[in-house]
Amino acid sequence: MYDVIVIGAGPAGMMASIIASKTKKVLLLEKNDIAGKKLLITGGGRCNVTNLKDTRSFLEEVEYNKKYLYSAIHQFGPKDIYDFFTSKKIPLKEEKENHIFPVDNKASSILYGLLQSMKKVDIKYRENVIDIKIKEDNKEVITQKGTYTAKKIVIATGGTSFKETGSTGDHMRFAKIISQPTIKLFPAETYLELKEALPDLAGTSFEEVEVAFLKKKRTGNLIFTHKGVSGSAIMKISEFVYLNKEKTITIDLLPKISIEALVQELQAFDREKELASFLKKYFSKRFNTYILNKYNMTGKIKAYHIKNIIRLFENLKAFKLEVSNVGSIEKAYVTGGGIDLKYIDTKSMESKLSKGIYFVGEALDIHGPIGGYNITLALSTGYAAGIHISDH
Ligand SMILES: Cc1cc2nc3c(=O)[nH]c(=O)nc-3n(C[C@H](O)[C@H](O)[C@H](O)COP(=O)(O)OP(=O)(O)OC[C@H]3O[C@@H](n4cnc5c(N)ncnc54)[C@H](O)[C@@H]3O)c2cc1C
Repeated sequence: MYDVIVIGAGPAGMMASIIASKTKKVLLLEKNDIAGKKLLITGGGRCNVTNLKDTRSFLEEVEYNKKYLYSAIHQFGPKDIYDFFTSKKIPLKEEKENHIFPVDNKASSILYGLLQSMKKVDIKYRENVIDIKIKEDNKEVITQKGTYTAKKIVIATGGTSFKETGSTGDHMRFAKIISQPTIKLFPAETYLELKEALPDLAGTSFEEVEVAFLKKKRTGNLIFTHKGVSGSAIMKISEFVYLNKEKTITIDLLPKISIEALVQELQAFDREKELASFLKKYFSKRFNTYILNKYNMTGKIKAYHIKNIIRLFENLKAFKLEVSNVGSIEKAYVTGGGIDLKYIDTKSMESKLSKGIYFVGEALDIHGPIGGYNITLALSTGYAAGIHISDH
């Protein structure tokens, strides 16, 4: 008999276990033969573990369902995560846009920081939880190997993306068993396929663009793929495209410079030269060839009326692409939807409907953009549940 059983050893489940085990007897059940299988592939294997913005700016970036996240982020936010790992002798470094990584660029260091804090947690691997049962004064967790009993259960099974890492959407099944309301799952943070793909541009990337979709605007990098576009700016906008009927995105390929400034620069440029040599400062040779062929402007600057060059600039600042498909939920970096937060006490992450059942991490209807936001949300909500369990 345990005080609490945590299902799922991702960042959310591990943090909930670490904190609850300060005063309680904790069993952590994981279906894989290692903890943090998804954590190990995050940030390209480097793990962007948090985003060191102040709480307000952090939540502004998260945007989706942020009103439910104030309490968790205030209890254990980016700065606390930073201090947690550095206090475990896992040195961290800050890169652009407040992205935090381990100094050795190894996601395994972050996992090690969590695992070495779990000395008091009884962790069992290869335990696939298939059922949960609520009895009068305790709860049963049934795996393929046996039945475990506890007073409380924390469901930390993640979303349903990158299924090979173990997150196969089991929280939806458990929610159904206890009649916990859910929001339909959808892909967040994924690539887009285009009606007219531009395979000639595949591999061409842009360091910073601004992507607009309806009233939303997101900045980040962009890369053309064989079938469409990807990169952080695209991933950030992808969920809105998925959730809307409208499918055209508009990209400002030169977000840092106005048309007026471009015209001024052009006027100071040698008119005997080709337009391509003017654009060289901003774009790759491959993109210049594509765009100048498209607008039939491959000649010298003096060959074109300024009105036509301005039209080209306008097109570069409002480059339209029609989306045919949004990347599937399996391939999305994050799963949107999940446990409906209206029925969760967001200070403790305990169900308002089933006392003693907690939901944490990506299983909840929460997600942020890429950039350290999602692991932060997993660790924060895990902490909120852990501290509540530890204190009660
Ligand atoms: C390629 C990729 C890169 C990413 N990079 C970043 C990044 O750099 N920074 C960032 O902030 N976010 C990143 N994310 C998102 C981030 O990894 C997740 O949001 C985060 O791991 C969610 O944590 P979690 O603990 O809620 O779930 P998970 O990490 O998915 O963990 C859930 C665990 O539960 C286990 N489990 C599931 N069902 C059962 C069951 N029935 N019985 C027992 N165990 C079960 C799973 O095996 C798994 O170990 C990335 C995601 C992907 C796919």
